[in-house]
Amino acid sequence: MEGKARTSVLTHFSLFPLALSGSEENLITDSRQVRLATGLFPVISLLNHSCSPNTSVSFISTVATVRASQQIRKGQEILHCYGPHKNRMGVAERRQKLRSQYFFDCNCPPCEREEQGPSQGPGREAFCCHRCRALLQGDDVLSCGSTSCTESVSRDHLVSQLQDLQQQVGIARKLLRNGELEGAIQLLLGCQHDAESFLLAEHGMVGEIEDDLAQAYAALGDWEKSATHLQKSLRVVEVRHGPSSVEMGHELFKLAQIFFNGFAIPEALNTIQQAEKVLLVHCGPWNDEIQELQKMKSCLLDLPPIPVGPNE
Ligand SMILES: [Zn+2]
Ligand SMILES: [Zn+2]
Repeated sequence: MEGKARTSVLTHFSLFPLALSGSEENLITDSRQVRLATGLFPVISLLNHSCSPNTSVSFISTVATVRASQQIRKGQEILHCYGPHKNRMGVAERRQKLRSQYFFDCNCPPCEREEQGPSQGPGREAFCCHRCRALLQGDDVLSCGSTSCTESVSRDHLVSQLQDLQQQVGIARKLLRNGELEGAIQLLLGCQHDAESFLLAEHGMVGEIEDDLAQAYAALGDWEKSATHLQKSLRVVEVRHGPSSVEMGHELFKLAQIFFNGFAIPEALNTIQQAEKVLLVHCGPWNDEIQELQKMKSCLLDLPPIPVGPNE
């Protein structure tokens, strides 16, 4: 029994960095979608669209499954999202996409709310003051939102600062792909420092840098540092996509793998449970990530207790 469990852990250990280096450039917050195929699902096409739906639909070959993503009361309409989701794009872009593809103007509650004004709080792509970290406000010239701070800066300057940062991150990713891990980490730590000086903590770029750092440390086998950075990126994903989003599920899955590989058993079990809960809303139990989570869980539960006492 002991031998079997150990072998599984080691197998997993060696697989993980390979899986990381073989994956896409941007592991974490990338929500680009590529249309792979078009299908005809007569029952599902009866469901109306909402930019904040109460179901999640998944497809496995010719079978479509609709799952409730929140409590649906008796008599309440079952809604699903045709693609443009409120966590991924603003109201103007959603409406434009729905109009061009489905020929209707969306008036779902999130669309109406967003249309009525910026009640959503500051944009998540916003800049912050480098002196006091308060939100910068304005059009061509932005001023610090804090009354005790007189800082102001031109938008052009901030935009070019962001472009420089993106370029640096691009170079770091190239190093990461080529296995030049130490160089990648040094560059990414510099990027992280720069990003903190002018971007809001929930800016997508901040999350991407943390995810890249997590990936680099995982490739080095430093699971503890990897987990610390991935947890930061997880917070950005949670703010941007919501705590029960599929993006959050993928992120929790990665964190579970890192804890697993680092033998952080209670943290791994806890994260596996959270990841399963989120992913089960979006995918069926036969989904690869869910299967993998279950394998990790049974492997951890099979581990013999850690011996206590003096060791030679
Ligand atoms: Zn809408
Ligand atoms: Zn300020």
